[in-house]
Amino acid sequence: MTISPAIFPPLIRAVQADIAANAEAVTELDQAIGDGDHVFNLQRGLQALAEQADAIAPLDWPAAWQKIGMTVMAAVGGASGSLYATLFIALHKHSRDSSVSGFAAAFAAAVEAVKQRGKADVGEKTMLDVWVPVALALQQDAEAGKSLDELLDHLCQVAAAGVEATRDMLATKGRASFLGERSLGHIDAGAKTAQLIVAAVARVLKTA
Ligand code: ADP
Ligand code: MG
Repeated sequence: MTISPAIFPPLIRAVQADIAANAEAVTELDQAIGDGDHVFNLQRGLQALAEQADAIAPLDWPAAWQKIGMTVMAAVGGASGSLYATLFIALHKHSRDSSVSGFAAAFAAAVEAVKQRGKADVGEKTMLDVWVPVALALQQDAEAGKSLDELLDHLCQVAAAGVEATRDMLATKGRASFLGERSLGHIDAGAKTAQLIVAAVARVLKTA
């Protein structure tokens, strides 16, 4: 089973719709321990990507990831903008073929690049608490030869567990780290939007 960048326009629309539907709730999370601009930053990036979606659709994956990364880098400020740009540019560098296992390997390398860029890892109450376990589950499921539907359901579960885990973590990276112990008890906004992205992408791929 292979997936081409032709899927990109409906993927972006689905992510935009889910972020919009959850914008208020995520902004409340971000206001509790961040500066409240995370949804705005993300929506700027998504809008820029939506404007490029038809130009991205006919490309091959390496070219598509490059254009996605450059678009995000140009459009979005904030920590999340540069981290997502890093993720997509690394996908461009590591993208080999359109198979699920090829994507899984490239995605794991891209998440590794995000860790290095942000000097962060799992357990620090960031988007990495979703992306790291999702990347690992993706690789394991692809290796195990799971069906795409099974794999996507599993990734959604792993992402949801990752978000929930951030509640009891002490923030040690990003703005939330300035709060010290007061960051305890709150879910990280960037982890929540990462989970929303996983869920939206899974929904579109399941009906593709
Ligand atoms: P900013 O922190 O510059 O205002 P955003 O509000 O857009 O940027 O994004 C904040 C989110 O970025 C946080 O909720 C967290 O998930 C994520 N984040 C912040 N710093 C890091 C980091 N060093 N590594 C990984 N993720 C990070
Ligand atoms: Mg912010």
